[in-house]
Amino acid sequence: MVLQMFAVMNDIPKMIPQKLIEAARAQQRSALDEQAGKSLLASYGISVPQSLTVKNAGEVDAAMTKLRAPVVVKIMSPDILHKSDAGGVKVGLKSATEVKDAINAMAASPQIKAARIDGYLIEEMAPAGQEIVIGGLRDPYFGPLVMVGLGGIFVEVLRDVSFRICPITRLDAEEMLDDLKGAAVLAGARGRKPASRAAIVDALLKVGGENGLLMTHADDIAEADINPMIVSDNAAVAVDARFILK
Ligand code: ADP
Ligand code: MG
Repeated sequence: MVLQMFAVMNDIPKMIPQKLIEAARAQQRSALDEQAGKSLLASYGISVPQSLTVKNAGEVDAAMTKLRAPVVVKIMSPDILHKSDAGGVKVGLKSATEVKDAINAMAASPQIKAARIDGYLIEEMAPAGQEIVIGGLRDPYFGPLVMVGLGGIFVEVLRDVSFRICPITRLDAEEMLDDLKGAAVLAGARGRKPASRAAIVDALLKVGGENGLLMTHADDIAEADINPMIVSDNAAVAVDARFILK
């Protein structure tokens, strides 16, 4: 009886994320949109900001009664991978008016006009912290791999990243962080705010651990990219999420 109850309880968190993947496939999409990606992360216990999607500036007033400023606005389009490069991210907006102005400016930009627009994601700002990246990909021989790196130039220029084959243990997650040449900056080197190592290890396990996201959806997810996750001294919040389906 107890065993049976466990089976049922364990099915619940697995079914809901699977529906997000099925919905994207039903729309012939090769990737989850940012909001679906964040729902997937949240269903594995990873913190994501509170957010709402609006179709246009006319829906902003209602949305802003449910969110706490400052917020970020982001373009949602299957045609735009790098939102900032397209002028599709505006951070630190303090009022509904600022949000509407940002949406109207985005809607008028040529690159965004040329794209299919799903809507605009309005999202609360994560607490300040250090930006890290957690990624996942599928190796044809070894199956899912999980990756961690420090954000910005550490990943893009220095390629300071660490990989492990899933599923990882807590010790693996700790070692992944120790492998990074820039690991000392997490502790607050060079005037940075210290980032919670425990929160990063916890997030790595939720992504790459035994019952984690990558293992559970190994047949569906080709690539995962949480870039960035913002880590303060007590929390790690995924503020961008991209999942490419197999
Ligand atoms: P993209 O990578 O597609 O350009 P992101 O969603 O990563 O867009 O946003 C760009 C940058 O804006 C992030 O790297 C981060 O620095 C900042 N940012 C985005 N969302 C938030 C948020 N909710 N809270 C704080 N900063 C954010
Ligand atoms: Mg990003």
